[in-house]
Formats: sequence, C-alpha cells, structure tokens
Amino acid sequence: MRNKTWIVTAGLLLSLSAAAQQPADSQPPSDPAAAQTSAPAQQQPAPAQAAPSQPASNSIAAPASKAPGMPAPPKAEAQPTTMDQVVDRFVLRERGLVKMLETRTPVLETYLQNLTLDPALGPVPKDDRYFLGRMDLSESIDRKDYIKDDASMEKHLMGGFQKLFKVQYQPLGFSWMIFADRNDFDRNHYDFRYIRREFLGDVRCLVFDVTPKKGTGNGRFLGRIWVEDQDFNIVRLNGTYAPRPRNSFFFHMDSWRLNLIPGYWVPAFIYSEEGDFSAGAKNKIAFKAQSRIWGYDLRKEGQGDELTNIKVDSVQDDSAAAQDASPLAAQREWQQQAEDNVVERLTRAGLLAPEGDVDKILMTVVNNIEVTNNIDLPRPVRTRVLLTSPLETFSVGNTIVVSRGLVDTLPDEASLAMVLSHELAHIVLGHNLGSQYAFNDRMLFSDESTYQNLGFKHIPEEETAADKKAVEMLKNSPYAQKLDGAGLFLKALNGRAAALGGLLTAHLGNDIAEAGTVTRMSALMTSAPNVDWNKLDQIAALPLGGRVKLNAWDDKVELVKSQPVAITSARDKMPFEVTPFFPRLTRTGNTAPADPNAAATSAANTKPAN
Ligand SMILES: [Zn+2]
Repeated sequence: MRNKTWIVTAGLLLSLSAAAQQPADSQPPSDPAAAQTSAPAQQQPAPAQAAPSQPASNSIAAPASKAPGMPAPPKAEAQPTTMDQVVDRFVLRERGLVKMLETRTPVLETYLQNLTLDPALGPVPKDDRYFLGRMDLSESIDRKDYIKDDASMEKHLMGGFQKLFKVQYQPLGFSWMIFADRNDFDRNHYDFRYIRREFLGDVRCLVFDVTPKKGTGNGRFLGRIWVEDQDFNIVRLNGTYAPRPRNSFFFHMDSWRLNLIPGYWVPAFIYSEEGDFSAGAKNKIAFKAQSRIWGYDLRKEGQGDELTNIKVDSVQDDSAAAQDASPLAAQREWQQQAEDNVVERLTRAGLLAPEGDVDKILMTVVNNIEVTNNIDLPRPVRTRVLLTSPLETFSVGNTIVVSRGLVDTLPDEASLAMVLSHELAHIVLGHNLGSQYAFNDRMLFSDESTYQNLGFKHIPEEETAADKKAVEMLKNSPYAQKLDGAGLFLKALNGRAAALGGLLTAHLGNDIAEAGTVTRMSALMTSAPNVDWNKLDQIAALPLGGRVKLNAWDDKVELVKSQPVAITSARDKMPFEVTPFFPRLTRTGNTAPADPNAAATSAANTKPAN
C-alpha cells in the first residue's frame, strides 16, 4: 500500500515538473549550454518492432521481421553524393509516404483557442473550437467528422473571420500540412535551397528552404523543411502556403513527423498560430491550435481480419464456469459483456488507448481509494485513457475512462484521485448498468457515428450522489490532506470555463461544467485557496499536452518524461492552453518514441554548412 503510493507519487511528480513548463516558441535553443542540459535519460522500453539495422554505409536495410499491418520499408538505395541528389531523394521519399498512407484512415483532432490579450497573463483564450474526424488519405485528403451536430470547420472559422478575410481552406484546413504538397512536390514546381545541418532531438537533419516557382498557381508550400540524413525523409515542415488569392488567408503551421515504424516518418503533430498583439498591429485574427493525428494502424471501415489470422488457442472454453450461472451471476456476466463490447468498440474507433502504463498509475490511485475505504467489488475496476483532448470522464460497467486532455491538465496526484473518485463512486453506488450494450447489434455502427451511438451520461440525481460519495471516500483516502490542490484545479477551471466551452463539452460522459460554471465535485472548491496567477509556485492547472504521450501509429499512451524548466512569470503557466509542439525526434528502434512538448530537449547541435 505505502509502496504503491510512493510509486505513483514519483511518477506523477516527475511528469508534473515536465508539464509545468513549455517552450516559449518553436525555435531550438542556440545556446550550447542549454542543449547540454537538455538530454534526459530515456528509460522507456524500445518499440517492439524490429529496427532497421544501420550499417556504416547508411543504406536502408529491411527489418528482419514485419509485424502484420505494418508497411514494408522502402528498398535500400545508394547514398546521394550531391545536394541535387538529396533533393531528388526526399521528393521520392515524400511520394513514398503519400503512397503508404493511401490505405490509412487516421484520426485527426484539432483544438483551437481564439485569443485575447490579458495585461498580466498575455494572450489568453477567449473562446475555443474542437474538431475530431477521420482522414481518408487515399485519393486526396478527405475527412469525416465524429462531431456531427457541429457545423464544418470552414463554416465555424469563417464566422469569426469573414469581415477581415475570406479564409481559404484547401483542401481541408488543418490537415494541409500532412504533406508539403500532395501532388506536385518536385523540382518543376519548387526551388529548394540548402541552408545547414541541424539536430532535431537525436536526429541529424539537412535543412532546406522551399519556395514555389513563379506561375505554378496559388496555395503552394512556402517555408522550411527538415530532412533526416539517413533515409532522407522529411521530418518537419514549417511555413505557410503562397501566394494567397485576393482576400484569402493561409495559416502558418509547424508540422512534425515521427519515425514510429521502420523506414517512414508519419505526420503526428501540427501547431498553428496567428496573431500579433504588439502596439499598433492591424491583424486582429489571433488564435493558436494544436492538431494531433493518430490511429494510423486502425483498420479501415468494413475491412475485416483475414481468415488466416484466426488462431485457435484452446479447444475448450476454459473461461466460463463449469455450471450454469445463477441469476445474479448471469446479471454480472451480462454487464461484463456490455462493458467489454464498449471498450472494444471505442478502441476500434480510435478513441480509446490500449491498456498500458498510464493505466497502471490510474489503477494505483483507484486502489489507494478502494483499500482505505474497504471497498470490495465483485468484479475488479479497470481504467482506460480516452485519446481525445476535451476534459471528460465516464465509466461503463467497472471500467473508468479519463480523457488524455484531463490527465494532461491535472496538477497533482490528489486531483487525479478527485477525478477517479467520482467515477469509482458511480461504480460503488451501482449506477453503471449500461447493459443495453451487451447486445452486439448495438456495436454495429460507423466509427464516425460513435458519439451518436454510445453515451454514458448519468441523470443529475446520480451525479449529485456520486460527488457526495466521492468526497466521502477522498476524506478516508491518503489524499485527505491534499485536497486543496484538487479544489484549486477546479477553481482555475471555473475561472476559464466560460471561455473553454469546446474543451469542456463532454462527448460520451457528463459535462464537468454547465453554463460556464464547474459543477463536478464543486464542494472541494469551497475549502481551496484562491487562484493567484502571480504566485509562481502555485500550479493550479497545466497546459494541454504536457503529460500524456500518444503513439500515433498504435495509439499506445505513456507518461512524458522530460526535464524541468523553471517558471519565470505568470505567462509561463498557460493553464488549459495549447502550446507549440517540440517533440524529441528519435529513430525507431534507437530509443523511445518522441515526447511532444518536451521543452528544450531538442538539441541545437548546429553545424556549419559544408
Ligand atoms: Zn458522473
């Protein structure tokens, strides 16, 4: 028991310090001293896939084995000897990526905060928008939205901007920067100018400026690309599209790719930002947005497992009891079936992470509450991470689900206990029937219509009862003396709730706030201290993206590990805000997948140009 508490505290504190700070901008630090202190010891296990061997010749070797569902890496080719040959190679590699992704339908999430200037805190969100869809990368870039009752992204954004610009989205707003130019990325359409060599994380890159040739039409990529120097894949794109047609407008974007499978770097993060708050600035558009892409390995709709994949492990069903179930046992079995159906279906829709390391942390906290409250349930409680950003929790049967965005923004372990205790209370009080989902026909719907077909909202009376029971359980738990932090988090959220309607709209569970006021566990707010942004050691809530690291290929999640950076002003706190991405790039098989937002971990081992 004590041991468990220690483990979770250590884990959370480590990532708390990591998450409390973010890079101020997306430029790598040029101070060599800063680079030196920035390499944290990576202790994550290496990915399970076989890594390509890296012989002295730097040629691209095929991996020894290929996991099912994984594309074969490109064939080895002779190393280029001139910059022209390098350009030819990355143009070819970009085409290879387009081709490989043709069969994929990843999830694309964009969360956007419109900004206003606060004299003390700097630009702060004044309202927000949330989009979630599945991309079809087969012919062009097409998307299907999960959130159906919302107008399209275009309509939404046009609303705010049309007086200033007619915003042009070609082809699909924030999904643009998946590729530099899907169809025409070549020498006929672009000039490429070599700038220098530069490290992004562990990966040495060649940096090129890319400009569209005259007369090649509107909306061509204009900016900079980073190309890794072993296989010559593009790993980062930074810039915009040009020229812009009259009265139209293209966003600036910073797009990062990760080497999650041998031979390919897949698009994973896109940061976008517009706005100028300097005195006399004319451009009144101000927003920042994070787009995340994941679920590359999800099966395409309607695409079943091949028959050859069916393995018969056992000739006898050893899972069921030897006798018929009693009525109560049958009822429990039925609920278990409903729970398993939902968990399996949400995972297949790209919304739930497979069981993993983050669940161990969540489970430890749940156990701490259970043991100290003498809770003994007939079936064990499980936890899973919802992969999306909006702050929400729900439970189905005995499975507690917490969103990635919520885990990201919680400041400490006691706040995590606060979040989990509410759902545990629903389970203890027997609120989670949900047995309609034991009928398998109810799982037959398209991934995009998940939110129309599944829902786990409780009636207000059950919400009140769960809050009451949860506070009771917390007071008996190891977190009893630390609930100020949880209350402070809720107060900070309450202060921002009116501006963060998109982040606070739950899609499967109950809303944490209603009409701009936090309702969940609100009793904890009364005894908590007041939020004081100028108190630098008071961390009420964290920015998005600082805690949970999501593998875009297989949807696994783990906690971010990175070095602390000191908060030096109230503007560094950025509670519930989006920030630029700065993942630590690394080659697959070398070390661990990259950390998004890992401040200052990207070394600036810049070398002079040849
Ligand atoms: Zn609830």
